[in-house]
Amino acid sequence: MVETQCLCGEISLVISEEPLAQVYCHCSDCQIAQGAAYVLNSVYPADAVKVVSGKPITMAVKGTPRLRCASCGTPLSSVLQFSAKVGFENSLVGGPFISFCRG
Ligand SMILES: [Zn+2]
Ligand SMILES: [Zn+2]
Repeated sequence: MVETQCLCGEISLVISEEPLAQVYCHCSDCQIAQGAAYVLNSVYPADAVKVVSGKPITMAVKGTPRLRCASCGTPLSSVLQFSAKVGFENSLVGGPFISFCRG
């Protein structure tokens, strides 16, 4: 289980399962949203993620819906379309980053 929060602490999240995959995402959507050449994306089942305090806002840079904190702007998760999975930039959820996919 992982507990994490945005930089200002207004939003707290609990993730109750291990990641399904950890991938380096080079898509143009993540590049623009995160201001980086690529993103270390830890992917979890959407129903394993619970917001325990605060109200994230939803925004989209290109097509991918993303949650952010309205106060400090911390990117929280991206919603992987056509699946019930969400991705987190790995620094938010901590732990090692080892590129893998187990479906
Ligand atoms: Zn915040
Ligand atoms: Zn991406």
